[in-house]
Amino acid sequence: MKKLNRLLIVMLMAAVVACNTKVEQKTTDTEMKKDDFKYLLEQFADLKIMRYQVPGFDQLTLDQKKLVYYLSQAALCGRDIIFDQNYKHNLMVRNTLEEIYSNYEGDRSTPDFQNFVVYLKRVWFSNGIHHHYSTDKIIPDFSQDYFAELVSKSPKAEFPFKEGESMDEFMGMIVPVIFDPMVAPKRLSQDPEKDLILNSACNFYEGVTEEEAVKFYDKIKDPNDPEPISYGLNSKLVKENGKIKEEVYKTGGLYGPAIEKIVFWLEKASGVAENEHQKAVIDKLVEFYKTGDLKVFDEYNVLWVNDLSSHIDFVNGFIEVYGDPLGLKASWESVVNFKDMEATKRTEIISNNAQWFEDHSPVDDRFKKKEVKGVSAKVITVAQLGGDCYPSTPIGINLPNADWIRKEHGSKSVTMENITYAYDQAALGNGFMEEFCYSQEEIELAKKYGSLASNLHTDLHECLGHGSGQLLPGTSPDALKNYSSALEESRADLFALYYIMDPKMVELGIMPTLDVAKAEYNSYIRNGLMTQLTRIESGKDIEQAHMRNRQLIAKWCFEKGSAENVIEKVTKDGKTYFHITDYDKLRNLFGELLAEVQRVKSEGDYEAGKMLVETYAVKVDPVLHKEVKERFGKLNIAPYGGFINPVFDVAEENGEIKDIKITYPDDYTKQMLKYSEEFSFLSPVEPL
Ligand code: ZN
Repeated sequence: MKKLNRLLIVMLMAAVVACNTKVEQKTTDTEMKKDDFKYLLEQFADLKIMRYQVPGFDQLTLDQKKLVYYLSQAALCGRDIIFDQNYKHNLMVRNTLEEIYSNYEGDRSTPDFQNFVVYLKRVWFSNGIHHHYSTDKIIPDFSQDYFAELVSKSPKAEFPFKEGESMDEFMGMIVPVIFDPMVAPKRLSQDPEKDLILNSACNFYEGVTEEEAVKFYDKIKDPNDPEPISYGLNSKLVKENGKIKEEVYKTGGLYGPAIEKIVFWLEKASGVAENEHQKAVIDKLVEFYKTGDLKVFDEYNVLWVNDLSSHIDFVNGFIEVYGDPLGLKASWESVVNFKDMEATKRTEIISNNAQWFEDHSPVDDRFKKKEVKGVSAKVITVAQLGGDCYPSTPIGINLPNADWIRKEHGSKSVTMENITYAYDQAALGNGFMEEFCYSQEEIELAKKYGSLASNLHTDLHECLGHGSGQLLPGTSPDALKNYSSALEESRADLFALYYIMDPKMVELGIMPTLDVAKAEYNSYIRNGLMTQLTRIESGKDIEQAHMRNRQLIAKWCFEKGSAENVIEKVTKDGKTYFHITDYDKLRNLFGELLAEVQRVKSEGDYEAGKMLVETYAVKVDPVLHKEVKERFGKLNIAPYGGFINPVFDVAEENGEIKDIKITYPDDYTKQMLKYSEEFSFLSPVEPL
């Protein structure tokens, strides 16, 4: 998965709308024009809230519209799950804050109340009380005393008391959860010196240590199984009466009430599936939700990855493992989408040539796929986001994750272009490029090709990068442990960076000139060495996998190319810039690092992987960091963004759906409250 990076694709954003979506068309000098739709809705803390359009929805058939609608309902039903997975007290906190928000009878115009609202919005955004990206606990900008006042002046609020619990007991419990920086300080700890599980607030384990969890799974894994299930993917590992066991997410199991609703909508979706194959995919997913059987999940993935003819597609389930420090347990997410036929021509050229790219990559032959199977790629139009993909969304996805399925059956990659387009539109004219680009020439290049370059990078990253390479026989897919996510993202980025500068790209008609690649190199290095630091708090390390990956690559190349000054660090008027002096040499460095990272993955070389990440990806130059944050601060741009969803207006007659229209609400708070009202299926009251 690729989260929006190059910080703010922002900058680049200009470039041609039309050439984004038509391969056969050459890029022209026309810069992206702002369209009339309001993309940027509001900003608070370090966040901006945007919205996206869904072009093409009105052209779907009624059955296709129903399918999108049913899948979208299913996408919203898992919202409580992600809150609970992120931290065991999140639902209780969210519910309490919402009760205050809806019932507070005091003065709502005070700065304190405004700070309370910002905190509530941040909790909604992060699906919990930890920052969605840094995973640090969010500390409110109002006092405990004020919180007590909020509670006492909300007499009609129904707070989530446990049975027989007094107000004092309730406050004694919730106050430290919200205010004490020592209680659950981090959702996801990556400090290898400390117990990863005990130091992470995420809710995938209860009462077990890292060592116990690793042992538990080592014991049940069969190292000789060529088709291993994704052990532990859909369960919480708990210790009860001294015995360690899995609580499985399924109907009748953990998260049952929410999963039953998901199943309800999936079954409706099955009834309007576009074809038999797609129906089988949906039915298999339902079977998985009902059984929790990970073998069934693999069967589902094989069916799903082979469904290439359906126009509408979706992700729905326990998918990505970024939220678990051990990389085993998956967070719940959903994306509903349909194919952008025009733009997909571009990605089809790439996927049709996947074997050529694999054969010509700079990695050792032993680590290459002899036969690249079923690599498919498409550009999609997102119609609904849910769970871990909402409101902060990836811009590209490559699934399934199981290595053996990828090897035997291939993978599906998507580039989410109505989302990147909305990002671009929301960022037009914000001054970012002018501040951080080294030269006017760089700015021009970015304006001209930045948007195309960024989408192409995503195509290559998802489709070829994640899909490339193979493990040596006997190498465990989990061998890189806490470093696996950052290294996997590096591998995918390096593959994309290496090939975006290949003359083959022009030859295939995917891009008009290698200048597109130059725009990508400029933005990648600028971001990896500098601008992504705007997202890091002073004094902190880099933790997020994609950010680690970007700094790893940029810093490694900066260092290795220093003798020849491949990337030059320049100071002008007290401001730092990074400037690429030799694009071909930089490309060779990308190739060299790709070969090494692929070797690390293929051999499961934990020590070498650890060295790469710890040396290049984690630490931040405090002087540069301070400078970058100051420069960025003046621009008043929120470094993180998310999207609210469109809404489907269903016209019914005698209980039958006659038409579905899509509308675009513009109020973040209203959408969040509505979701809490309509899609709260798990109790915010904690068990005794
Ligand atoms: Zn990725």
